[in-house]
Amino acid sequence: MSLSDPVLRLAADLIAIDSRSSLSNLPVAERIEQELAGFEIERLDYTDANGVAKRALVAHKGPRQGYALSGHMDTVPATGWQSDPWAPRLDAAGMLHGLGSVDMKGQLAAAIIAARQAAADVPATLLITTDEETTKEGARRVARDSRLARSLDLAGIFVVEPTGLVPVRGHRSHIAFTATAHGLQAHSSTGKGVNANWKLLPFLAAMREVHDALRSDPALQDADYDPPFSDFNLILDNHGTAMNVTVAKATAQIKFRYSAKVDPKPVLHAVRRAARDAGIDLAEQMEGFPPELPADHPLIARATRLTNRAPRTAPYGTDASELQALAPCVVLGPGDIALAHTPQECVRAQDLVDAVPVLARALRDGIA
Ligand SMILES: [Zn+2]
Repeated sequence: MSLSDPVLRLAADLIAIDSRSSLSNLPVAERIEQELAGFEIERLDYTDANGVAKRALVAHKGPRQGYALSGHMDTVPATGWQSDPWAPRLDAAGMLHGLGSVDMKGQLAAAIIAARQAAADVPATLLITTDEETTKEGARRVARDSRLARSLDLAGIFVVEPTGLVPVRGHRSHIAFTATAHGLQAHSSTGKGVNANWKLLPFLAAMREVHDALRSDPALQDADYDPPFSDFNLILDNHGTAMNVTVAKATAQIKFRYSAKVDPKPVLHAVRRAARDAGIDLAEQMEGFPPELPADHPLIARATRLTNRAPRTAPYGTDASELQALAPCVVLGPGDIALAHTPQECVRAQDLVDAVPVLARALRDGIA
């Protein structure tokens, strides 16, 4: 196998363009547009919270309705990479290496090639987002603002993140809490400072109770997920304060993930009440509602027929939490999620090549 296969060549071209979420994705969006001759294209331009120019793309050809394939253009940071993350490389074992190879420029290339191959009477839509790894803002813009996507009356969306081509019918969404206690910085020996940690402590004790309840109370759990209990991960930060300085600012961050059958309100209320009681600031960032379809939903049945594999659920999140506002979503793509977000990120090249006919059938089967 070589990089001469069109899917691998496009995947390699996309990997070679640095599109970490902190940067503008315009170069990679422009490269993708070169592949979309014959498609009607809508550009959704916006400026992210850090003032960086971003673009999501909606592309369509053929009749209205039908199905969409969706992927994101951004990648995680290059943490830990020893080799050049933007130098795509196919090794002797047939693995394509590079930042974004499996999450998810390889899958995006497969989706683009599959949509391009669709016959003239088959509707083919691409929803190409960015900021998936951070805020999901690209997907939110597509769902909320895309005139083209809304006009199509889509029957379903295949989010082509790596699932080993097993249909994922539901996943968790998260609420990110940031609690901040303020003190007064001074030399700790003088007695003139105020240590913010003492103000944070009662809040943390209450969070310990929430954490333990999530682990022990079946009413807060979902047996359809592995693990059945929700993630409630706590990170503490004193922002580099030395031992002889009173802490001016103490921050607790908590990522709470929940699935569709779990009501997040008891947790939301407990966190808000604890912050109020402790007299500290609380910020919340909430993703869209967790997407989940029953195993007998027509879109899940379609995905099951396509792959001959039983649907399952996943503990991680995708753009489906936003895109479900447009049409029902299933997560289905080639590659192994375990290889994502690591400095050894890679994907089996043959898996990308083999996924193209599957994604083409996802668009075509039973249509016209
Ligand atoms: Zn991804």
